Amino acid sequence: MSEGPKLNFDTEWSYDPAPENSAQAKIKTQYEHFINGKFTAPQKGEYFITTNPSNGDEISQVAHGSENDIDSAAKAARNAFGGWSQLDPIDRSKYLYRLARQIQERAREFAVIESLDGGKPIRESRDIDVPLAAQHFFYYAGWADKLELAVREPEPLGVVGQIIPWNFPLLMAAWKLAPALACGNTVVLKPAETTPLTALKLAELIKDCGFPPGVVNIVTGDGRTGEALVNHPDINKIAFTGSTQVGKAIRKAIAGTQKKLTLELGGKGANIIFEDAALDQAVEGIVNGIFFNQGHVCCAGSRLFVQESVYDRVLQKLKDRIQTLIVGDPLDKNTDIGAINSAEQLKRIQYYIQKGQEEGADIWMPNCNLPEKGNWLSPILFTEVSQSHQIVKEEIFGPVLTIQTFRTIDEAIEKANNTPYGLSAGIWTQKGAKIFEVSQRLRAGVVWANTFNKFDAASPFGGYKESG
Ligand code: NAP
Ligand code: MG
Repeated sequence: MSEGPKLNFDTEWSYDPAPENSAQAKIKTQYEHFINGKFTAPQKGEYFITTNPSNGDEISQVAHGSENDIDSAAKAARNAFGGWSQLDPIDRSKYLYRLARQIQERAREFAVIESLDGGKPIRESRDIDVPLAAQHFFYYAGWADKLELAVREPEPLGVVGQIIPWNFPLLMAAWKLAPALACGNTVVLKPAETTPLTALKLAELIKDCGFPPGVVNIVTGDGRTGEALVNHPDINKIAFTGSTQVGKAIRKAIAGTQKKLTLELGGKGANIIFEDAALDQAVEGIVNGIFFNQGHVCCAGSRLFVQESVYDRVLQKLKDRIQTLIVGDPLDKNTDIGAINSAEQLKRIQYYIQKGQEEGADIWMPNCNLPEKGNWLSPILFTEVSQSHQIVKEEIFGPVLTIQTFRTIDEAIEKANNTPYGLSAGIWTQKGAKIFEVSQRLRAGVVWANTFNKFDAASPFGGYKESG
C-alpha cells in the first residue's frame, strides 16, 4: 500500500480568504425609530452614525432618541398593553413563533449585519447568535399558554423598558423581548449605540409578522436615551443588561418608584483546570472561554487557574493553540477573532494591558498580522499575576487572560470566589465528585463542567454579588 503524499508542516501557508456573501444583506443608509408599528423620524431630527469596527467605514445613519421619542414609544406601548395582555395566550405564541421562523428564514442576512456592525466573526454570528436568538423566540412561544404551570395566576407587569449592550446585539434583544412578550407585556427596547442594526432589522420582521402596533417599540440612541427610558414615569419595569456601573446608576434612579428591575451585569469568570483534566480539551475550553467574541462576554473565563503540577504543560499547549488562531476580517469564515467593537472599548482594554505591565505581570502574545484600519488587538496572556493586580480584579471585556496557579481544591475555590462578581465559572476534571464539590462551593450563577460558554434558552442564567 502506498503511504500517500508526505505533508510538510514546516512550510509557511495560510488559508485562502473565504468571505461570506454579504450582497443579500439589505441595509438602509438611514434608520428611524420603530414606534407604534411604524418607522418614525426622531422628533428632534438628530441622527448618529454606526460604523464597521473592522475598518471604520460608516454603515448607516441611525435616529437618536430624545425624551420625546421615548415618551411616544412608552405611550404606544401603554395603549397596546390592554389588547396584547388580554389576547388568548395561544395567539401571543403564534406571533412569537412566526417571528422565530422569520429569523431562521433571514438567518444569513442577520449574521452578516451582526458581523458588519459589531465586528464579531461570521462563524459566531452565523452559528451562535442568530440560531440562539431564533431558539429563544421558539422557546418562549411554547411558554405563553403554559405560564399557569409555573406561576399561580400569572399577571403581566405592563410596559417594560429594556436596555441592552453591544456584545450580543440580536441575542440580547431576543433574551429580553421573548419572555416579556410571552407573558403579555409590551416593550420599549433601547439597543446599544454601536450596534443598533440587527434590532432594527428585527423591527422590520416584527412589522412583517403583523404584531399589533405598539407591542414592540425600538428607540435607538446612546446612554442619554437609556436614561430617558429609565426615568419615564409610565414604565412598570426596567430590564437592563450592561455594566455594573450603569446598573448601579439605574438602581439609584428608580429607587422610591414602583418600577421593578432586573440587572444582568459584569463578570470576571474563573476557569479552573485540575491536574486530572483532559488537557487538550481543557485548552480548547480556555480558548473558547476567553477569546469567544473577542472576550466581549460577560461570562468570559477571564481568570484562569491551573493546578501547579500541570501548569507548564498547559501554558505551552495554550500558547501553541493561540498561535494558530486567525485574527482578521469578521466576514471571513476562517476568522476566529474579529474586531474590537469600538475605538472606545479598544482604549479601555489597552489601558488594562498597560496597567498589567506596570503592575509587573509578564505579557505574551502570538505573532499575528493585524489589519491596519479598524479596531484590532491580538489575544493576550498575562502570567506572574496575583489576586491584588487590577487586571485580575476588574472586568477587562476583551481578549486578555490572566493565569494563576493553585495547589489544592480549597485554594482554587478561595481564589475563584475572591471577586466582587459571580456570574460564571468552569471546572475541568475527570472526576465527577470533584465537579459536584467545586460547583457547589463556587459563588457563580452558571458553572460549566468540562465545557465553557454553552447557552440554551431552557437553561437559567443569573449571578451573585455585583453581577446582578
Ligand atoms: P453599558 O455602558 O452599561 O451599556 C449598556 C446599555 O446601557 C447600552 O445600551 C448603553 O447605551 C446604555 N446606557 C449607558 N448609560 C446609561 C444610563 N445612564 N442609563 C441607562 N442606560 C444607559 O455597558 P456596555 O459597555 O455596553 O456593555 C458591557 C457590559 O455589559 C459589561 O460589563 C458586561 O459584563 C455586561 N454584560 C452583562 C451581561 C449579563 O447577562 N450579565 C450580558 C452582556 C453584557 P450606549 O451603549 O448606547 O451608550
Ligand atoms: Mg457599529
